[in-house]
Amino acid sequence: MSKANSELKHEDPDQDQQDPYSDQKPVEDEWGPVVSHHKAPFEIGDVFFYSVLIGTFFTLLHFYGERFWSHILATYPKPVIILGGTFIVSEVGFWFWVSLLAVLDLYQFPKSFWRYKIQPLKVPTWEWYTKALWVVLQNQFLVGVPTGFLLYKLLEWRGNPMGMELPTVWDLAKQSIGFLFIEEVGFYYGHRLLHHPKFYKRIHKQHHLYTAPIGIAAIYCHPLEHFMCNLAPLLLGPVVMKSHVLILWLWITIAQTNAINSHCGFHLPLFPSPLAHDYHHEVFNKNYGPVGVLDWLHGTSGSRELTLEKKKQREAATRAKKDAKKLD
Ligand SMILES: [Zn+2]
Ligand SMILES: [Zn+2]
Repeated sequence: MSKANSELKHEDPDQDQQDPYSDQKPVEDEWGPVVSHHKAPFEIGDVFFYSVLIGTFFTLLHFYGERFWSHILATYPKPVIILGGTFIVSEVGFWFWVSLLAVLDLYQFPKSFWRYKIQPLKVPTWEWYTKALWVVLQNQFLVGVPTGFLLYKLLEWRGNPMGMELPTVWDLAKQSIGFLFIEEVGFYYGHRLLHHPKFYKRIHKQHHLYTAPIGIAAIYCHPLEHFMCNLAPLLLGPVVMKSHVLILWLWITIAQTNAINSHCGFHLPLFPSPLAHDYHHEVFNKNYGPVGVLDWLHGTSGSRELTLEKKKQREAATRAKKDAKKLD
């Protein structure tokens, strides 16, 4: 194993006896569950962040939407709007957040944010980023672009996704019930299937290389997984709900931001809580779903409750044990 890989891998006291990748058994937590302020599945950050995002979108639409949309419709042919627009929205949204997080990870700027690091002893390096970069670009271009064509055909088949009339907050509210349902069902069961021993090593293990994930690792995964778990559940919602393409772009921005945030490794104030998925990367067999309802239903919800202080203690103890083993 290369040095970069070994730094990423699981720091578990039992690692020598038990390969956490092969048998999917829970990693025992000797510190036990700890109650803290991280308990609620929906926190103020979830409400605040998405309200600001959605509020900004509809405010801009209210003031500039008509002029912007009639200009777009008059200037570009339909396939260019759907394919080009969807590609630009996805790329700009992804790299905007990932660049900010790279500055935070690699230059530790702003330093004060590091008090919110979820796994504070695992410090991201350039190797973590360069390792993810090529896989991410391959997924975006070789999987994302063909999926965009498929999406275009499906949207066209369902009806005109580019009406002159602009969508409203009410449209989003109604349609997002369908989006969230399809995302939760598609991602949960797809993801759980990939944890089956038959598929895990060949497909999903790649995504689990980052046991303390970083933002860019949101789509560091096998191309099949990228299509099956990331793109299909995300894009099927707007197809089923016959959404306006502007709602599709907003939904992509919301879902993608959420995926990056879930992997960013920091529980920042006024941002949605990434603890559930971060914990999935740490222990492998909890919190499979993006919303949490199916995890609750199937009894696979994991502790979101470890305090930073307890985590520091646990990781320090793990490290001390490893060092002691090396001395033996
Ligand atoms: Zn993940
Ligand atoms: Zn997984």
